[in-house]
Amino acid sequence: MQDFHVHTGHFKGKLYFSPEEVAEGMKALSVERYYFSSTSTGSVPFSEVRHEIEELISLSEGRAVPFLWVTPDMLEDSPDLSAYFFRDFVGIKIHGYHHDWDPYGEPLRRVLAIARDKNLPVMFHTGGCERSDAGVYMNICREFPDVRIILAHGRPIDECVAVMKECPNAWADIAFMGVKNIVRLRDEGLIGRVLWGSDFPVMRCFYDIPPDEYYRKRVEEVREALGGEDFSRITQDNFTL
Ligand SMILES: [Zn+2]
Repeated sequence: MQDFHVHTGHFKGKLYFSPEEVAEGMKALSVERYYFSSTSTGSVPFSEVRHEIEELISLSEGRAVPFLWVTPDMLEDSPDLSAYFFRDFVGIKIHGYHHDWDPYGEPLRRVLAIARDKNLPVMFHTGGCERSDAGVYMNICREFPDVRIILAHGRPIDECVAVMKECPNAWADIAFMGVKNIVRLRDEGLIGRVLWGSDFPVMRCFYDIPPDEYYRKRVEEVREALGGEDFSRITQDNFTL
């Protein structure tokens, strides 16, 4: 299986998800390929972020592929982001809750234009506050129909469904999404644009059970709710990036 939403790095100033922890965890869980970004971005010098990314890739035995997490400061510092593309990235991550991105402002639209030129998908964190709720990204999804946009967490679900129905380039990942809402995406006919994501090992921050235990339970729960065929679509077949 594949996992679209994984992290390494410092988290909220209190936890650290080391490259070793992530590489070992993903291997033990038999995740063959995972897309990750660094939660340290913006809170430590970029050289440290770079080191984490390189370290995880080298420890992962070919399983880890990196998204570049972009902050407004990075874009200001390097308007075409070239200073930060120190290697090939497979996508760009935007955290509109953590960082102050106007959801349809010029800076974010510039990031989308860069993604379009580089043919990269863009992942938006959704939920947490109004400026990062899924619905606010309707305009940018419409303006960039050629950019695949992944609404991570799909929150709130009504807005996520509305954007996905209107915009064929809008996708969702199911990190921390309630099973009821995953089933709803299927019932709305959207399962072909849904990706397995876990936020591993961020669950360590919210739950008492060890992340690998949480992960295995979650796999069973989602497989049971969707059935084997749709489960294999979201964990494998839909990964066409
Ligand atoms: Zn995340």
